[in-house]
Amino acid sequence: MNSQVASRDSTSHYQPRSMDGYELPFYPFRTPPELKSGRQPRYPVVIAGGGLAGLTLGLDLGVRGIPVVIIDEDDNVGASGLSSRGVVYVERTLEIFERLGVARRVVEKGVGWSSGRVFKGEDEVYSFLSKGADDSFIPPYTNVQQFFVEQYLVERIAELDNIDLRWKSRVVAVSSHDDHVTLKIDTPEGAYELEAEWVAACDGGNSFIRNSLNVPSHTHLFEDVWCIADIRANTKSASERRMWLDADFNDGGIVLNHQLADGVCRFNCQISHYADIERAGGMDEIHRRLRRALGEGIAYEMVWAGVWRYKRRLTDRFVDGRVIYVGDAAHQVPPFGARGGNSGVADADNLGWKLALVLEGHADRSLVETYHSERYAAAVENIEVTNRSALFLTPDTPARRLFRDAVLDLARRFPEVRPMVNTGRLAVAQSYPASPLNIGGDWSGSDGLPPGSPFVNGRIVRPDGTAGLLLELVDGAFVALHFLPDHAELPREVESASFAAGVELRSYVISRTEKNLPLPVFVDPDGALFKTYGADDGATYLLRPDGHVIARSRQLQVPPTPDFLRASGSLERAA
Ligand SMILES: Cc1cc2nc3c(=O)[nH]c(=O)nc-3n(C[C@H](O)[C@H](O)[C@H](O)COP(=O)(O)OP(=O)(O)OC[C@H]3O[C@@H](n4cnc5c(N)ncnc54)[C@H](O)[C@@H]3O)c2cc1C
Repeated sequence: MNSQVASRDSTSHYQPRSMDGYELPFYPFRTPPELKSGRQPRYPVVIAGGGLAGLTLGLDLGVRGIPVVIIDEDDNVGASGLSSRGVVYVERTLEIFERLGVARRVVEKGVGWSSGRVFKGEDEVYSFLSKGADDSFIPPYTNVQQFFVEQYLVERIAELDNIDLRWKSRVVAVSSHDDHVTLKIDTPEGAYELEAEWVAACDGGNSFIRNSLNVPSHTHLFEDVWCIADIRANTKSASERRMWLDADFNDGGIVLNHQLADGVCRFNCQISHYADIERAGGMDEIHRRLRRALGEGIAYEMVWAGVWRYKRRLTDRFVDGRVIYVGDAAHQVPPFGARGGNSGVADADNLGWKLALVLEGHADRSLVETYHSERYAAAVENIEVTNRSALFLTPDTPARRLFRDAVLDLARRFPEVRPMVNTGRLAVAQSYPASPLNIGGDWSGSDGLPPGSPFVNGRIVRPDGTAGLLLELVDGAFVALHFLPDHAELPREVESASFAAGVELRSYVISRTEKNLPLPVFVDPDGALFKTYGADDGATYLLRPDGHVIARSRQLQVPPTPDFLRASGSLERAA
């Protein structure tokens, strides 16, 4: 995790476990089979850490039919009482959650938004408006406290009988071997050992497993200190991201403001410019700032308050033998682009199908290695993007300060300068252009989605005439999308293409008009999908189980077989 600054009398001590109308759920310890029987079984996958990343990965594997054990030292969701930490979840995360069965609850609970505004003094110096997929139930951004998201993941996990989620269970020792990993788990009823073919270390920024196995990680602790206050106020606020630079009501520091679920509102106040940070992080001071921000006389309830310094961290190897680092255990960034939790969810999405194919014997373990190459590159990108925002927001040299002030000054008068106001570039679905899994093809030209790109959602009309989203076709299997223009014919062999031996390939036709064909036909009602996929003259796309393009062709054809499936010898083509 990022560093919470804990000291006596600081706000970090205001950590209640309930607010009006909500109490953090607690989950009981249950005696595990190892302590009942004394046996030490070997599991396919053990996930150490039931935070956002571990719960998402566990659910992903569980939905794929892989038995999973999740170990968590705590007995509730969230961190330090009602500390939400993460609040902003991007469209891609919700698309992943939809496949896992929790997106609707998150969207229903959260506050959807699409625009942001940045002020300096009274002046608006930058604004943005993001657009999500047309007619999607998922807004571009959904604000919801992280503990709600984790709670929904836990409740969904409880519906699956192949996921064993063990609370009050702390990993206290780890040893890694050629073909398995041994973990020692401490519990209220004593310690036990278990073995796993694979361990996913989802145990957060201070990963015990990473530290125990001496896997290097490079950390930078930002000097800046921030005070977060989550409050419920008696005011109506727009559901947008608002940031004030050099805010008067924060004595010249930055303030970031978000609306959260249940009428909670977050103020993230920079306090490092205060001479006495200890005092600035105290409850009296935070109340003083809030009164100035809200206006005297506005009543509010303090939900949670804490003081933070942010970390940047990158672990050298995301796959180290049989141990795989996921989420904050692998990488950490300051929260200005909401790239922490969202990228942990993307890690889980990337890893789940690969682990499942390897465990089922459909691919060899080199497929898991590609989790490192793809997600390490994504983490480097996140760090670079977030670093630029952090340096703009909190310049660390006089020259950077001068640059920032000049940009802000010019942005007031010249709209073309405004894109240089970098207060955080929000997380996006990342591409894997250099992935070893990408299959080249006949596609020259820059139109469409090249291999490695995430699929792009859009409107469809289902075969029964009802409205739907492309997202519902991308639900965890390999998918062939055949874009069939009205003047073209679908080759016969496409209809029977399949990956045998339990590797599912689902084939769909995307058409501009209704058609009666042996494959299910989905209509692109306004041609937007044909345009996005560069498919006006026809195209076949092969999507991986996480929805990334693995191959594409301008010819309508049977999609190529990925080498990693060929290598396992498990694939044959139906006649
Ligand atoms: C102030 C703040 C604001 C943020 N805002 C956002 C945002 O808006 N959007 C966003 O996407 N991200 C945000 N983040 C980042 C986000 O909170 C983290 O990236 C996310 O929590 C990481 O999830 P994780 O599961 O990898 O790690 P964690 O959430 O740290 O979970 C680790 C889990 O491992 C367990 N554990 C640890 N050690 C052991 C052990 N030895 N044995 C067993 N269990 C163990 C812990 O109990 C915990 O449940 C923010 C972070 C902060 C601090």
